[in-house]
Amino acid sequence: MERYRIAPGTDVDLAAHDPSERLTFDGPKKLGKEELGALTLRLRELQELLYAEGRNRLLVVLQAMDTGGKDGVIRHVFRSVNPQGVKVSSFKAPSDRELARDYLWRIHKEVPARGEIRIFNRSHYEDILVVRVRDLAPPEVWERRYGHINDFERMLADEGVTIVKFFLHISKEEQAARLQSRLDDPHKHWKFSTADLRERKRWDAYEQAFEAMLSRTSHPHAPWYVIPANSKWYRNLVIASILVDTMEGLEMRYPEPEMDLSDIRIE
Ligand code: ATP
Ligand code: MG
Repeated sequence: MERYRIAPGTDVDLAAHDPSERLTFDGPKKLGKEELGALTLRLRELQELLYAEGRNRLLVVLQAMDTGGKDGVIRHVFRSVNPQGVKVSSFKAPSDRELARDYLWRIHKEVPARGEIRIFNRSHYEDILVVRVRDLAPPEVWERRYGHINDFERMLADEGVTIVKFFLHISKEEQAARLQSRLDDPHKHWKFSTADLRERKRWDAYEQAFEAMLSRTSHPHAPWYVIPANSKWYRNLVIASILVDTMEGLEMRYPEPEMDLSDIRIE
């Protein structure tokens, strides 16, 4: 899974990352789904341990082009985890109340507490993605934010937050197919938004903004992973594997009981 991690200082060219890759798993889709089942059960155990130990906190950041599959990752990868142990924060266009403050204000309030997994469905990265692409702030304003974001995540990591960031990489053709299926399938009509068509026209500008993000904000304490996401089951498998590896790396232990439990008799 290391192959998907962006090493600090890499000048990322998304054209060199195949969104259809299934390299580390050649088995048929069915086997991939069974493997995902095993990984999601392991994630359930690791989350319980995280909560019981009450020491670590895990922040999972999801960014993607529209239709990239953020919702699908949340639904499938975390399907077995105790709902009390994982929370999702979704960041839409900021409200007036949020816009009246600095852009990290709404983000900082949502960081995970001890023992918690927190998923960011979009994040502070929107402030160097959509803001940059749609000219919502002048270049000198968003340019400074790469530094702010690096400092913010450094501070979180120093304070004990484990950060993992996933960019779900789909091709422009795959996005066309997914948007089309939202038009064709009556059960998906509600997901269709003309705003997605408007943003699709800016595909190249978004790719550049994602490349700058990946090149400038991946660090050992807060790595970016570029996930091949044209295939949904492969995407889920890779993300689940990385999360299991990351959590196993925390060397968590169940806390020792405060007294000798062998003497206790339940009457
Ligand atoms: P998603 O597309 O993430 O599944 P959604 O479809 O339910 O969510 P949308 O309203 O389409 O909801 O997506 C949220 C929108 O808010 C996106 O277009 C995103 O770029 C925008 N957004 C998020 N953060 C910011 C920000 N800081 N400044 C401006 N726009 C933002
Ligand atoms: Mg959307």
